[in-house]
Amino acid sequence: MIFELINEEQANWSDESLLDALENLLKAFAEKQHIVIAPSSLLDKVIKNEYFSRKVRNIAAYAKQTVRELKALIKSDHVSTYIRIDLSNEDKFEIVEENQKTVLESGFAFFKNSSSIQSTSILGEDLNDARFYIYIGNFYIKNNSILNKFALKHSCCHGGGSQTANIYNNTLAENKFCYCIVDSDKKHPHSSRGETCKAFFGNINAFKEFFFEKFGQVRILDAHEIESIIPFNVLAEIIETGNSSKDQILTIRRLKRMIEKNSNIRLFLDHKNGLKRNQAKELDRRYGNINKNSGYYSTELNKLIEQNNKCFEHKDKVDHECDDNCFSFAPMGSKLLSNTLKFFENNNNYKKEDIDKITLPYWEIIGKDIFSWCCCYDVSMKVS
Ligand SMILES: [Zn+2]
Repeated sequence: MIFELINEEQANWSDESLLDALENLLKAFAEKQHIVIAPSSLLDKVIKNEYFSRKVRNIAAYAKQTVRELKALIKSDHVSTYIRIDLSNEDKFEIVEENQKTVLESGFAFFKNSSSIQSTSILGEDLNDARFYIYIGNFYIKNNSILNKFALKHSCCHGGGSQTANIYNNTLAENKFCYCIVDSDKKHPHSSRGETCKAFFGNINAFKEFFFEKFGQVRILDAHEIESIIPFNVLAEIIETGNSSKDQILTIRRLKRMIEKNSNIRLFLDHKNGLKRNQAKELDRRYGNINKNSGYYSTELNKLIEQNNKCFEHKDKVDHECDDNCFSFAPMGSKLLSNTLKFFENNNNYKKEDIDKITLPYWEIIGKDIFSWCCCYDVSMKVS
């Protein structure tokens, strides 16, 4: 996380809890837990103040050299959120939207105990979910060369299943930072969200894609599930080279054909359990338009039809009658995500340009979030 320190002119410099908060923040910066941006005038006051140890004053001297670069970072498009600490105020907390970023404006009291300045926990529905999101964060840094002096630091990464909302609330109650993503479990663009996700909301916030509190953020993945944002070529490679059934291979061919025609069906497809045409029709009936033929799935599945009501696999077979079997998607199993993590372990050269255009915006948004919550300045400083 990035902490910007403000209002040092109005601060009470004889207040020991203010000085302790400053010491904790500067140490967290030196230990590469977080990033601290402070005006030079503030750092000069720390350097001259005998209350601080020599080590802390050295960190302040070092921090002075980084101010310009780090200020440019928070103004850049690579940061979606940061914390602004008002040194003249102990307990304030406010969420401010500013230049397309969310700034969490806080008083300094929270930071006077060093135990509250641990690095951010990343929480997903499953441990592999959290690992996948961390991968996306590291991928974001690697694919933006301007971020090459930064790295991710997270204190733990865990999964909560149906208890995710409880774990999130407990993590915040323990005064820890937490960034959490949950699947929407939406089976159709117009269907409602699943229970794991609803547990985060009372009746308010129900339509928001993300929300903040002190000091956490929840993002609802605006897709059925995490498997929906595995890049298509990675999914295809895993299925085609793995021990897959004929139906799974066919499913990849169908998806490929549809994606060539700009289909976003994977965003709502249940990858683990698959989808049959009659189920798709039922979803359209429940959530679709009044006009039966313009439902989401019927429009998407029509992309498999080439001519004379025949699907692309059978377009040249004169005496073949296409049926539901030509428009179904096999379950791709529960190991898809762990196989994806293995794929990335073995494919260091996978790049941003390799990601399909439906998936890439998700990776950009999540990568930026993870970077914002977990970034540290990864340059060794000599402070003793
Ligand atoms: Zn067919």
